[in-house]
Amino acid sequence: MKASAFDYVRAKTTAEACALLTEYGPDVRLLAGGQSLLPAMSLRLASPGMSIGIGRIGRIGGPDAIEVRGKVLRIGALARHQTVLRDARVVEHVPLLTEALRHVAHPAIRTRGTAGGNLAGNYCRCTGYHTIVDAIVTTAAAGRRAGG
Ligand SMILES: Cc1cc2nc3c(=O)[nH]c(=O)nc-3n(C[C@H](O)[C@H](O)[C@H](O)COP(=O)(O)OP(=O)(O)OC[C@H]3O[C@@H](n4cnc5c(N)ncnc54)[C@H](O)[C@@H]3O)c2cc1C
Repeated sequence: MKASAFDYVRAKTTAEACALLTEYGPDVRLLAGGQSLLPAMSLRLASPGMSIGIGRIGRIGGPDAIEVRGKVLRIGALARHQTVLRDARVVEHVPLLTEALRHVAHPAIRTRGTAGGNLAGNYCRCTGYHTIVDAIVTTAAAGRRAGG
């Protein structure tokens, strides 16, 4: 099947995306890597009248999307699975995340799919980041208990 007709606009900043969301209301969907939304639209599981492209917004995507500040690893919503998977800081600080992402979909989808889309999308059983976050929290909690 093919998606029903929709309008498309590309946001250049987070503020612009937020303003467009407010302006167009519930008939709008953000489009990041498109790996969940576009198949859903093709199957008419989703038929937004307007789609806002956010894939080129800097900082929450691209090379600056991942940063470590003290004990906090920050992953921007537009970080692609493959970027996170290959990041040395993620390997060093959260190897469980690296290992788990190896099993998310396949390379073509990991190249386009984003962390934010994985967490926000509900068209398939996108359990990647949810499971990983649960596992990390559980492991950390168990570690604290074991350590007294
Ligand atoms: C064949 C196939 C196999 C897959 N296998 C796995 C798997 O094994 N494990 C797994 O976890 N996932 C799997 N996936 C899901 C894949 O990880 C997701 O499709 C991908 O991460 C979605 O990211 P995206 O950027 O493409 O999102 P999009 O498709 O662009 O968007 C998905 C949804 O999230 C919303 N959204 C996107 N970004 C944001 C944001 N920043 N803020 C708010 N809302 C946002 C969109 O509006 C849309 O509703 C698979 C997908 C396919 C097609």
